[in-house]
Amino acid sequence: MIPAGLIRTGIAPDHQADKAIGQLLLNTLCDSERRNDGSLRFHVQMGHAWVGREGQGLVGAAASSLPGPLLLATGATTPRMLGVARKDSARVLAGQQVYYWYNGFVGERASGHHGWSPLPQIEASGSDVVIVGAGNVALDLARLLLSPESMLRPPATDMPSPAIDQLVAHPVRAVHIVVRRGAAEVKFTNRELRETLKVAGAVHLTRDELADPADPAVARDRTVKRRMKLWRETEQVPLDDARLVFHFHDQVSAYDEPDGSGPMNVRLTSGHAVSGVRFAAECLGFTSDPLPALPYDAAAQRVPTDPEGRVTDHGVYATGWARRGPEGIIASNKFDAEQVVQTIVDDAASGRVSYLNSGDEAAGSAFWQRYLQAVAPPAINSLSTWRAWDEAEQAAGEPRVKTLTQQDIEAAVKCNLGEE
Ligand SMILES: Cc1cc2nc3c(=O)[nH]c(=O)nc-3n(C[C@H](O)[C@H](O)[C@H](O)COP(=O)(O)OP(=O)(O)OC[C@H]3O[C@@H](n4cnc5c(N)ncnc54)[C@H](O)[C@@H]3O)c2cc1C
Repeated sequence: MIPAGLIRTGIAPDHQADKAIGQLLLNTLCDSERRNDGSLRFHVQMGHAWVGREGQGLVGAAASSLPGPLLLATGATTPRMLGVARKDSARVLAGQQVYYWYNGFVGERASGHHGWSPLPQIEASGSDVVIVGAGNVALDLARLLLSPESMLRPPATDMPSPAIDQLVAHPVRAVHIVVRRGAAEVKFTNRELRETLKVAGAVHLTRDELADPADPAVARDRTVKRRMKLWRETEQVPLDDARLVFHFHDQVSAYDEPDGSGPMNVRLTSGHAVSGVRFAAECLGFTSDPLPALPYDAAAQRVPTDPEGRVTDHGVYATGWARRGPEGIIASNKFDAEQVVQTIVDDAASGRVSYLNSGDEAAGSAFWQRYLQAVAPPAINSLSTWRAWDEAEQAAGEPRVKTLTQQDIEAAVKCNLGEE
């Protein structure tokens, strides 16, 4: 766990505009800490709470004695996997391992913040990569793996330079996306598809999926109509010449992993097989863990709320993926968060919950420390150190140069706080 969640570790490095919301959050937190009139104190306190997994957390320990409203925005972080039998896991990754690599993830506090590490599979034998799934994450991976160096180097992205060096030295010939359903039913957005098709340049669709635009079923749905147009406007080439192949109505039936160091063979239920595979990455969504002492809807992978966002009657609320389940983009979260914040404001106005009063400031501050100590790299133990870290990374290069080791994070913080 790390401050800024998927904004830092999930959203693709070439989607800098989507990451801007993280700066807004940090500015709001810092601004509210600076202000002394109490009006924004509420926002800071929401960020203070840490919800422990093993009962040491705020909710598990003291749900009924919260000093103010608690807004859960804990997301959903465990990747779903297909469960296809395989000899070992070296060639079959969760998509998360790939986006952690290209996003410079330094590891979780629980595992000691070991620091960023190269992805050895990038250098494995084989020319192609198989991606399983039809959501935005699948296309992010495909696009990043196929992007030319000029589209990866700063200022185009904040991808760590050792990761770019790895990819440039071991370019991927083609990416195969295995999609369980058809072209009309994919989950990725048209924006993602447009960007990815542009990078790929030449595609192959294993079935004739591009429905006639006059087909009433397609014509009725503007999004599908546009999607089909995007595919039709991209050069269609034979399978062997394609940089991006969509295997529709297909699923992985077996990963034939090599005995030695040779490439992998991926067999599909259609009877097709993809050979020369360097690695496969499964991008099949996420699951979440129940939070102590709180209700949990295992089927929907979320904390159930009432229609206004309340989890309990005593001041616990949920937003984002924690509330809706692991689906939706930043824009969906904004809408969701606005609604829940309004609920909290209304509840406070009606006396249903109370904000922290000045006497509780020390308690609020202790929560903040606790949150950061639980989730952040050890050097990030306050809002000012978080800000110092952020500013140091931005000062090091456009759009930012991500710190990749614990020592670098500590040095960046110290330097920016004027301690060295
Ligand atoms: C690979 C990927 C790429 C994406 N790309 C885009 C994109 O380009 N554009 C877009 O709009 N959306 C994108 N999204 C979706 C977007 O990231 C999510 O909609 C958004 O991050 C969800 O926000 P959240 O606050 O609910 O969860 P998260 O962003 O996951 O934040 C959850 C936070 O809670 C913390 N946490 C978890 N458990 C605990 C606990 N027990 N106690 C305390 N803290 C905890 C985590 O460390 C994390 O900081 C992408 C998602 C993924 C996975």
